[in-house]
Amino acid sequence: MLTPELLYWELTETPVRALRDEIREILDAAPIAQARRCRDPRPIHRALGTAGLLAPQWPVEYGGRGVSHVAAAVLVEELAMHDVPDLLHTLTVQIVGTTLLNCATPEMKSRHLPGFAAGETYGCVLFSEPHAGSDLSVLSTRAVRDGDGYRLYGVKTHSIFARLADVALCLARGDDDALTLFLVPLTGDGVAIKPIEALGDDDFHEVTLDGVYVGADAVVGEPGQGWAIVVQTLLYERTGLDYYVKALRWYRAAAGRLNGGGSPQDAAGLARLNTRLVTAGTLVRRVLTRLDRGELGEDEAAAAKWYTTELAADVAWWAAERHGDRALLAEQDGVADPLDTAVREAPGLRISGGTSEMMLETLARLRLDSGVEVRP
Ligand SMILES: Cc1cc2nc3c(=O)[nH]c(=O)nc-3n(C[C@H](O)[C@H](O)[C@H](O)COP(=O)(O)OP(=O)(O)OC[C@H]3O[C@@H](n4cnc5c(N)ncnc54)[C@H](O)[C@@H]3O)c2cc1C
Repeated sequence: MLTPELLYWELTETPVRALRDEIREILDAAPIAQARRCRDPRPIHRALGTAGLLAPQWPVEYGGRGVSHVAAAVLVEELAMHDVPDLLHTLTVQIVGTTLLNCATPEMKSRHLPGFAAGETYGCVLFSEPHAGSDLSVLSTRAVRDGDGYRLYGVKTHSIFARLADVALCLARGDDDALTLFLVPLTGDGVAIKPIEALGDDDFHEVTLDGVYVGADAVVGEPGQGWAIVVQTLLYERTGLDYYVKALRWYRAAAGRLNGGGSPQDAAGLARLNTRLVTAGTLVRRVLTRLDRGELGEDEAAAAKWYTTELAADVAWWAAERHGDRALLAEQDGVADPLDTAVREAPGLRISGGTSEMMLETLARLRLDSGVEVRP
């Protein structure tokens, strides 16, 4: 039977090993079962944040450690291996925080990033609308000028963790029709948040913005630059890292349940997935290296998102087929088994942050534009 020892991030450099050891020490002592039961990982985030380990890739002045994205991957991997619910961290640090780090004014960074890195405040994303998902460019939320600021009107949907977030990145259309990105407080007048039940562990939310007022200092980047910034934001969401570590965690849970036994068909199934995991690890490492160098392209990120989410979904299906309802129903003390989570979460991975079809469409468009010919 294959041993699922695939820890790609077991880097040999002493500082990275030391980073992993520090993170493990905190997570080993953290109330993880409680966090999973309540779907609220904030106490764990605060323990990591106090040590500057919740956003280790950010500069020290904003609460990080100033390490590379490649090194910071050990945090994402350890969160997954300890079964800490991951989406709130992904949204706040990897998506909202990284966007601010790269595009916001120094004032906006100083106001929000230290709170995110400490696990004290949180961010979510308000991009999708009932009639604008894959094609965000048709969105209809309006940003109407009001004195020095703006009033926002519209309905956003499928937002994860809006119930715990303090602020949201929100894409809206200005008086001139150009898209502008705002950082919107979710606690003020004019914001209504309604949960929508989801197949995965975390609810979606519909967020209605009914004339919520934001000052000119809520604009991320410049007015009218929203689309260009969101294209960058989606790159941070599409490195494949989160999906790769989920696939790895689920593979280990499924393989581990065979207890070293299993049929020749099981061995063949594991061998196929194992090989794809090694390939995914190599792809993600390359993408993170390119991100560190500021060279990550839309096509590479689309390839990584597509490959890793399809893999994670296939690991979940394999586990469900092999372990049947033991994978689907197992629960201990109100905490779902990782394979139960896997089976319910897998379909959404192929949709959120851009569907698999859109990733292939992006790849085809960009690679075709760069001269590759497809013959009928
Ligand atoms: C788990 C999860 C979390 C999410 N979290 C958030 C969040 O926090 N914030 C947020 O704003 N949104 C969030 N979303 C929404 C997500 O971004 C959208 O669901 C996604 O972009 C797809 O949009 P849609 O659902 O409107 O589907 P549609 O765009 O209507 O697509 C329907 C189907 O048509 C296909 N399709 C569409 N256009 C094309 C094309 N040109 N070529 C080929 N096929 C095409 C799609 O691939 C898909 O299969 C989340 C979604 C999920 C599942």
